[in-house]
Amino acid sequence: MNYFSTVTPRTARSAALFDTAARVIPGGVNSTARAQWAGWTPYPLFVTGGTGAWLQDVDGNRYVDYLLGLGPMILGHRPPAVTDAVVEFIRNRGTVFALPTEEEAVLAEKIIAAVPSVEQVRLCNTGTEAVLYATRLARAFTRRSKIVRFEGMYHGFSDAVYWSKHPRIDEAGPDHRPRPVAQGPGLPKGVEDNLIILPWNDAEALAEVLATRGDEIAAVLMEPVMCNTGCILPQAGYLEAVRDMTGRHGVVLIFDEVITGFRLGLGGAQGRFGILPDLSVFAKGLGGGFPVAALGGRREIMALVADGTVSMAGTYTANGIAVAAANAALDELSGAGVYDRLDEVSDRLRGGLGRIFEQAGLPAFVVGLGPLMQVWFSREPIANYRDAVRNADQALFRVWWENMLARGVLFHPGAYENLFVSTAHGLDEVELTLQAARESAADLAR
Ligand code: PLP
Repeated sequence: MNYFSTVTPRTARSAALFDTAARVIPGGVNSTARAQWAGWTPYPLFVTGGTGAWLQDVDGNRYVDYLLGLGPMILGHRPPAVTDAVVEFIRNRGTVFALPTEEEAVLAEKIIAAVPSVEQVRLCNTGTEAVLYATRLARAFTRRSKIVRFEGMYHGFSDAVYWSKHPRIDEAGPDHRPRPVAQGPGLPKGVEDNLIILPWNDAEALAEVLATRGDEIAAVLMEPVMCNTGCILPQAGYLEAVRDMTGRHGVVLIFDEVITGFRLGLGGAQGRFGILPDLSVFAKGLGGGFPVAALGGRREIMALVADGTVSMAGTYTANGIAVAAANAALDELSGAGVYDRLDEVSDRLRGGLGRIFEQAGLPAFVVGLGPLMQVWFSREPIANYRDAVRNADQALFRVWWENMLARGVLFHPGAYENLFVSTAHGLDEVELTLQAARESAADLAR
């Protein structure tokens, strides 16, 4: 199946809108993840809207949507309870007050009840902000300056962490001890002096750094499941070892649960794996599609925010829309059996895709947990970023993506992104997806 003979003629209006947009918006889009260079060639689809598990483009094509806004739409598009709560709040109450509302503590109590390690929680607007605050707080708490982070992860676009997801790994130091590589120009010189970059899933590399430089290290910052280099699961015992070692060296363990939070269960990855970090950050899944994020953790550390030692400010933090949306989203997600059903539908998809690749004889496998997964086109297992760069066939992924899109299944064209499943996806959508996958796999195997 040829993309240009199938998809392009059906998306002419997207093409025209992209031309117009590119004249006034750099790259025609408002995020690099939607840009041509991120994989949306020849142009991104322009969307009219979505309902539940489905997205519609401006040419009237409908897609089963596994892009899901890159994660926030865990309840599907326009979840009625969240939409109603937001509309009701802004119609009757307002949006921004620069004073607290009763609902903020209600929300904090829900987050604390859901997430095992969180004793207190502060809201902000985006995952980027929450990570920035978490690292600042860890530095203030430990009075140390260095942050350990892992090659291939993404923690938002702030200068301090926008590093080390660089395709030219031959320029990025040895496997065991990568050196920081900026994600691009424009970052201030010297920021990297406060970063120690390690390979993920390698407890020995972390042990070595902690043994030699533990007293300089404020925090170990990690996604508990690597979701920004496709999907890579922690190897058995790895998170336990990280928890143990950081505790022994007085290093704050920060879990970036922006993707895993409220997705792998109400308690996020930490609930699923039973590993308790000192600080955690949440965003996407928390707000049911509205911009809201949170930083939570041990009371002893959050005390530095309470007494004003560390400032967490922001005109729009805990605005009425964010709080109403998150309260409603968490109520929905707390419903009986919600995650069991989400896992069941997701497992059906993951298992089905795996069988299809096997039957087609394709060098591909599916990695994931619950409603989070990615397909790797690789003959080798992938445990960290360099494995992905060396072994994953990104060109084949692109052909797979084009085939699936042509058959009405939408996900991000980048092999390092994920497929997300929402509570609005059912077995019917999964069956349609698997049928598209059967046909696409047959095309790829030819
Ligand atoms: N952390 C992780 C793990 C993420 O995946 C992202 C965004 O994709 C962020 C942080 C940044 O979140 P935001 O885009 O809300 O700033």
